[in-house]
Amino acid sequence: MSVTAKLFLKRGKEKPLRQHHPWIFSGAIQRVENANDGDTVEVCDAAGEWLARAAYNARSQIAARVWTFERAAQIDRAFFRRRMVGAKHLRARFADTIDDDDANASPLRAYRVVNAESDFLPGVIVDRYADFLVVQFLTLGAELHKQEIIEALKKLFVENQPPVSNLQSPIFNLQFPVSNLQSPISCIYERSDVDVRKKEGLKETTGVLFGEEPLDKIEIEENGLRFLVDVKRGHKTGFYLDQRVNRERAAPYLRGEVLNAFAYTGAFGVYAAKRNDAHAVNLDASASSLELARENFALNGAAANAEFVVADAFEKLREYRAQGGKFDAIVLDPPKFVTSASNLERATRGYKDLNMLAFQLLNPNGFLVTFSCSGLVDAKLFQQIVFSAAVDAKRDAQIVEKLGQSPDHPIGLHFPEGEYLKGLIVRAL
Ligand code: SAH
Repeated sequence: MSVTAKLFLKRGKEKPLRQHHPWIFSGAIQRVENANDGDTVEVCDAAGEWLARAAYNARSQIAARVWTFERAAQIDRAFFRRRMVGAKHLRARFADTIDDDDANASPLRAYRVVNAESDFLPGVIVDRYADFLVVQFLTLGAELHKQEIIEALKKLFVENQPPVSNLQSPIFNLQFPVSNLQSPISCIYERSDVDVRKKEGLKETTGVLFGEEPLDKIEIEENGLRFLVDVKRGHKTGFYLDQRVNRERAAPYLRGEVLNAFAYTGAFGVYAAKRNDAHAVNLDASASSLELARENFALNGAAANAEFVVADAFEKLREYRAQGGKFDAIVLDPPKFVTSASNLERATRGYKDLNMLAFQLLNPNGFLVTFSCSGLVDAKLFQQIVFSAAVDAKRDAQIVEKLGQSPDHPIGLHFPEGEYLKGLIVRAL
């Protein structure tokens, strides 16, 4: 007979759980019974009342992550299948389906399928690139349920099985639109080569989990433009899908001479060149990313409109300033500067410097498209940083659009940590 693994919270620590926040920090735990790392534990408050079922891992600061707040739900194949169905149901609103009103529109086939905690699956990321799925297992709990997760993905994306009625639960009582049925995917590839696995006591790992080895470059379409994605060696799972909607929103402002700083594989620059016949200077510290950027411009027939500069953005922007360089639009999409609360101040200075340099480099009425993907910098702080950058550069400016992460990167309302990307489109007078 198996004994039940249980986790008891300290008195007064149950409130976030009652509000369905999925994380339990080690400091909130009173005691744990019969649980090994990775086990599913029954989470109870100090009085022993059942609250949730969670994946336990004593090695991590976040010692447990909730799978479910439904007492009847077991953490089995049906559970993971239900979660996938729920995630896919949201994506059916904007992906895969063909828009009946626009015969020329092609279905979106590059998007995030599962966004971890915000899709009620802690530690699980799944991105789709055309016929390929790329997955990341970020936590021990996710790692130990890899098989059920892969099986659920195969059912939905390979066998194309709509959910069956006995899988329905009160929260996920979902039906699929028929038009959502699509061509099966041919591969599930793992990109669990991420730092955070260390904190969970896991090694980095990559490779084929199902189907054929992915091509070195997978072609995707985004808002009518074409991009090559290196899912095996690229950043994250290969492409910054979270910026899809922002690229479309930013496009009208990217005209004339455009500086695409932190260009990666050139996406924002391709929009500028292709939509507005702008000239895009693509700046990135990574030569290999810019090689792919070069191919992306060529793929869209825009090679003549592009320039590629391998350099540190901070240094290069200062150099442009010293030379009196000017741009009509600048995109700043730096990597995450704030990795923990301890470097918030330094990182804030980094954002401020960059934005100040950008303001100094913009022509009158030029546009700055600026982002921060640091979760610890919230929208209010980010706006303050951009404001003080404008003050230092002595530029008056207007916010014309506020940007966030694309809808395939939803933010759990109970999980504000899921909000990380924010952006502003600013006109500098
Ligand atoms: N805008 C891109 C994504 C940018 S990701 C897109 O839409 O696809 C951040 C990029 O910043 C990475 O390509 C990384 O190589 C680059 N980077 C990081 N630090 C840098 C620095 N100091 N100077 C220039 N580029 C840098």
